[in-house]
Amino acid sequence: MPSQPKDLNHLFHETLKDIYFAEKQILRALPKLARKANSRQLSQAFEQHRTETEGQIERLEKVFEILGKTPRGKTCDAIIGIIDEGKEVMEDFADSEALDAGLLASAQAVEHYEISRYGTLISWAEQLGLADAVPLLQETLAEEKRTDVLLTKLADVSVNAKAA
Ligand code: FE
Ligand code: FE
Ligand code: FE
Repeated sequence: MPSQPKDLNHLFHETLKDIYFAEKQILRALPKLARKANSRQLSQAFEQHRTETEGQIERLEKVFEILGKTPRGKTCDAIIGIIDEGKEVMEDFADSEALDAGLLASAQAVEHYEISRYGTLISWAEQLGLADAVPLLQETLAEEKRTDVLLTKLADVSVNAKAA
């Protein structure tokens, strides 16, 4: 890598690559979650979020463009680990009444990682004066938060009770 100053600009770019990689992994994982979920509502929530995730990836590409950089991901070990845990639940709890509760919990771990990343990117974008990037990142953060709230609601009204 050409030497780039280790400043907040650099950190912003690296973190953007991290979440870009993560969103692409999530895009691949969501259809599997939707297929495995027994609850129709949960399955629909995963499907809907998959569609949103496509838009989120496009927004990230716009942010790369604002930086004058080519969109490129960088391996995010955190999301790989979270998704691997989800796969483990899928295998260990397949055909069990608790499967949906496990899938839902895995999906919430994903949303919380994203919420943390977007929150950070927004404050750094503000700090760096990247005014055009802020609303793009905020729009995605709002979707991640809405998804988290929806998942919590589904857990409370049906999924966890069925699992118990
Ligand atoms: Fe996302
Ligand atoms: Fe990461
Ligand atoms: Fe998400």
